[in-house]
Amino acid sequence: MGHYKSNVRDLEFNLFEVLAIDRVLDSGAFGDLDAPTVRAMLGEAARLAEGPLAESFADADRNPPTFDAAAHAVSLPASFIRSTRAWQQAGWHKVGLKEEVGGTAAPSVVKWSIWELILGAQPAAFVYTSGPQNAEILHILGNATQRRWAEIAAAREWSGTMVLTEADAGSDVGACRTTAMRQADGSWRLEGVKRFITGGDSDISENILHLVLARPEGAGPGTKGLSLFVVPKFHFDPGTGELGARNGVFATGLERKMGLEASATCELTFEGTTAIQAQDFFFRKIGRDRGAAFAHVTDQIAKFLAGSVGGGRLERERALLATALEDVEAMVATLTGFRSAAQQEPAELYRIRLVSVRFLLAVGDLLIGWLLLRQAGVALTAIDTSGSTPFYEGKVAAASFFAKNVLPQLGTVRTIITDVDLGPMDLDEAAF
Ligand SMILES: Cc1cc2nc3c(=O)[nH]c(=O)nc-3n(C[C@H](O)[C@H](O)[C@H](O)COP(=O)(O)OP(=O)(O)OC[C@H]3O[C@@H](n4cnc5c(N)ncnc54)[C@H](O)[C@@H]3O)c2cc1C
Repeated sequence: MGHYKSNVRDLEFNLFEVLAIDRVLDSGAFGDLDAPTVRAMLGEAARLAEGPLAESFADADRNPPTFDAAAHAVSLPASFIRSTRAWQQAGWHKVGLKEEVGGTAAPSVVKWSIWELILGAQPAAFVYTSGPQNAEILHILGNATQRRWAEIAAAREWSGTMVLTEADAGSDVGACRTTAMRQADGSWRLEGVKRFITGGDSDISENILHLVLARPEGAGPGTKGLSLFVVPKFHFDPGTGELGARNGVFATGLERKMGLEASATCELTFEGTTAIQAQDFFFRKIGRDRGAAFAHVTDQIAKFLAGSVGGGRLERERALLATALEDVEAMVATLTGFRSAAQQEPAELYRIRLVSVRFLLAVGDLLIGWLLLRQAGVALTAIDTSGSTPFYEGKVAAASFFAKNVLPQLGTVRTIITDVDLGPMDLDEAAF
């Protein structure tokens, strides 16, 4: 038995009681897939996750992958390969994918529920079983020839990678220097060095389909000049999938990490990218449609508050959520004001950058508070109709705790954002 204990009850609660997916399933949108089948699938997948999939977790961490520099080859621990194959053979990694890449129709939330089980039990195995997901991307974006490659890759369980990062092009993806040169036969020759590539090489599959960002010769600068190239580790027959000659892509190093050892990565970094995600959230995710998508979500919270979920039993919590919503809407108005002011005075943009992470986290808290209260409402209805259980009582208590202990902090964040000054930006470089 492995280290992992799943929580199928909670998955079922969210799928059937909170999101009511049986209504979608009953409409026939996913063929014969019905609620009892989804419940059975979750049970089966959880058994596999807790058993054969999880059981090699400690061994794979204590006996990490090895790298043969002469052969440019990574070898994974045998126990880990056994675990990963068990999941592949059961077909759980293809649930919810397109039929053309071997998938079976299912709502995204069902796919993600099953992914939660593998990500909890053996996260590195998720990396090596995600080849069909990459193939699906190629199938959606590619031409007829590339769609055929995608079908072959998924059918033969080839691994897949996403190859973006370079030594001087991490967050700044547009700085990518890997170059693609068109060849006389219509193919492309790539030149460059990438790093930190998850699953960049391994012996778990006969081939790897790398999806590589590179700049075609003569293309413009930045992200707009980049293209995505398909680079197989081994060439292959496009009709049968039979492997041919080794292609010119090689692993030149394997990074030792502090955890998740079985996921073969070239280097290790301790830095995160929250600041970038926070700026992306305000400038692109909210800004791209002038806040329409964001307003759609806040409208749903407002509708929830206008209803009577939980009645008197969630009165205090609903009041706290209403204040939190008001706080976040005020933050958006303040940030939008800074952005408008930047048209006259560009330095005003720094105000947004200085508070963007706080804003991102505040929106996250608002959404979590809302979703927990929705769950608490469902739980209270169940208690009223079928009697109290510790599971439902736990849902109400968690929502109440979050509302009282986390949501009030948003008022302080609102004040911080309103009052942000440019002091740090005025400092001399030597002060850092
Ligand atoms: C375990 C692991 C697996 C990975 N797997 C893959 C993979 O499969 N494929 C792949 O392509 N890459 C992969 N990566 C690389 C990952 O995508 C990069 O580490 C990431 O994009 C950050 O780039 P960087 O490490 O060069 O850091 P940098 O870009 O140098 O960033 C360093 C720090 O500066 C901050 N920063 C940078 N620019 C700004 C800005 N404009 N404003 C504010 N703050 C900023 C960042 O938030 C970060 O904290 C992996 C990394 C790790 C650690």
